[in-house]
Amino acid sequence: MGFHISRNGGFPPEVLQAQVADIERGHRSTLLFNLVSLVFVLLILHHQGELRWPVALWFCMSVGIIGARSLSLHRLRRAGTLRTNPRHSLSILSTGAFALGSAWATLPFVVPNFAPLGQHTPLLVLMGGMATGSIVKHIGYTPLALAYSVPILTALMTALVRHGETADLLVAVGLTILISVFIRRSIWAERIFINSQIARHEATALADSLTRANSDILRQNTRLEALANRDILTGLANRVFFHGRLNGDIARAAVMGETVALLIFDVERFQAINDTLGHSAGDALLREIGARIEKQVADGSLIARLGGDEFAVIVSGADALDRARTHAANVLEASRMPVSWGQHRATVGLSVGLAAYPEHAATAEELLICADMALYEAKRGDRRKLGEFDPELRLNAERKRVIEQDLGAAIDSGALGAWFQPQLDLSTRRITGFEALVRWQHPQLGFIAPPDIVNAAQAMHLSERLTARIAGDACALARKLPELGLTGATVALNVSPREFALYSVADMLEEVTAIHAVSPSALEIEITEEAILDPALADAQLKRLEEAGYKLAVDDFGMGHSSLAYLISLKVDRLKIDRSFVKDVARSETNQKLITAMVSLGQSLGLDIVVEGVETAEDATVLARLGCTMAQGYLFARPMPPRALATWIAEHQATTAKRKRKTAHLSVA
Ligand code: C2E
Ligand code: CA
Ligand code: CA
Repeated sequence: MGFHISRNGGFPPEVLQAQVADIERGHRSTLLFNLVSLVFVLLILHHQGELRWPVALWFCMSVGIIGARSLSLHRLRRAGTLRTNPRHSLSILSTGAFALGSAWATLPFVVPNFAPLGQHTPLLVLMGGMATGSIVKHIGYTPLALAYSVPILTALMTALVRHGETADLLVAVGLTILISVFIRRSIWAERIFINSQIARHEATALADSLTRANSDILRQNTRLEALANRDILTGLANRVFFHGRLNGDIARAAVMGETVALLIFDVERFQAINDTLGHSAGDALLREIGARIEKQVADGSLIARLGGDEFAVIVSGADALDRARTHAANVLEASRMPVSWGQHRATVGLSVGLAAYPEHAATAEELLICADMALYEAKRGDRRKLGEFDPELRLNAERKRVIEQDLGAAIDSGALGAWFQPQLDLSTRRITGFEALVRWQHPQLGFIAPPDIVNAAQAMHLSERLTARIAGDACALARKLPELGLTGATVALNVSPREFALYSVADMLEEVTAIHAVSPSALEIEITEEAILDPALADAQLKRLEEAGYKLAVDDFGMGHSSLAYLISLKVDRLKIDRSFVKDVARSETNQKLITAMVSLGQSLGLDIVVEGVETAEDATVLARLGCTMAQGYLFARPMPPRALATWIAEHQATTAKRKRKTAHLSVA
């Protein structure tokens, strides 16, 4: 805001106020001086024996004017007019000055036979002094000085001219010159006064606006700083500030040989709450969780929201690791209390991961990764548990990363492919089919377990390519089986339930079987009960597979809760009883009962039963007695590469033929 001065439209009120103030400052002494001078006049005239009643009257009038001036200033001051209306005040003050000046001006006329250059010279000097003194004194406002002095000087001139002697006229001329010089200087001085006042006020205004601008900038700075460093939703530190602090704390800890512990909290099922109850409910929940963490972590450790539903706490200084563990335990405990927001109320679980510098990581970046790994591990295990970083986690993560990175190339190059495990008729040992199982011997990591491959494929969006690859290998085997003397044997392949949501399994299989010119009936698709349980996921696709002629098998049967109605409507061909029921079945009466129940269910639905994981001859005998017809397991064969199949099949056929002959021989005998 600028201080605007319009020189054409009059002076700014500040200058007028300064002029008033200048007069006000000297007012008391001016009046006092006038009073003393009036008394001097009385004394002089008394001394000269000329004190008559007109003079006494004049004296009283003058004193009255002085009193009135004093009173009017007092009133103006009290009413605040001096400040609020300086222009009016100046005119009142000038009127007072004019009245007193006029009173002085009457003096030569009340003194009889006034002789300016004779016996009344002291009066002339006194009056001239009063007039010039006023001009000199009131340089701040010339009109007032003139209002006072012009009447006095005019009266003196008149008296001199009236007296009419040469000396009188010369004095009058001299006095005129002197007075005009004084007036000119006074006007000049007034101009300087006004300019200095204007400059002063401009400077003050400038300083004022600078101060205002400065405090504006400061306020903006604080706001910007808050915006840059704070999370708007929770008021906690934001990710940017968090990173700065973590780096700083680690740098200090490196020098001091201290520990920096990092906790990362994650809200379980937050996405679901956000999706079902809306974003404002989600926001309120995050605010409440932020507040709870803040309440539990009250030792000055930095609390930040890293984004989404992720919170972090940096614990530095003495006993950092122990303090961090305590904080984690307290926050987890506090999270047991239900959270209320609006009309909602829910208990939300928190997971927390902990890692420390320098024990686990050498940099802020690494520390974050370690805490994240610990959090991930905590989420997999028990809820409401602290996951502390373990170097093993890093190895696992690294291993996972390498698997994901190399998977695509392995699928394309054929480094990854299907091995096959035979399935046999339990009583005749005739080969009824094979199950394709994915195998990958990684050059550095060695054997990669199939679930790790399947998960990595999903993470890398390679599920379709992986299954297409295995399906291709399965088709290749299916085409070769008649050559190997096995007609009617099927080749099974696994399709994990999540795959149905990712792409069209039916389309993919249609393409692969067409390429290999294999009939769908030669393939069996193993799906778990999970896929059946979520009909929305796979319903249409499973129906399409069934209609296309693929055989369908329910894998790991007995582990889930297959819907009986669905099993019937889908026309499943086989149930594969899970390995957990088969293991040590000879010794477990419970397992025998369960298998009997599953077999009779299968029989009543007209389904084949395959038992998986048969490892001992004893178990095989018991399973045959319980009514199981087909089996798969290490007892008969482990999964083997396609190139080993021909030999194994030949050997197996030979052994079975020999066994058959022996049985026939025995029965004949
Ligand atoms: P699954 O479908 O239940 O496959 C049977 C698993 O049992 C295979 O493990 C097999 O090697 C193993 N097994 C067979 N007989 C015995 C036995 O007598 N004793 C013991 N202890 N184990 C036996 P594998 O090959 O490690 O596969 C594990 C799981 O990975 C499979 O379980 C299946 O769910 C999945 N999987 C394997 N290959 C694929 C694939 O190509 N695609 C998909 N989606 N999943 C696959
Ligand atoms: Ca299977
Ligand atoms: Ca299985």
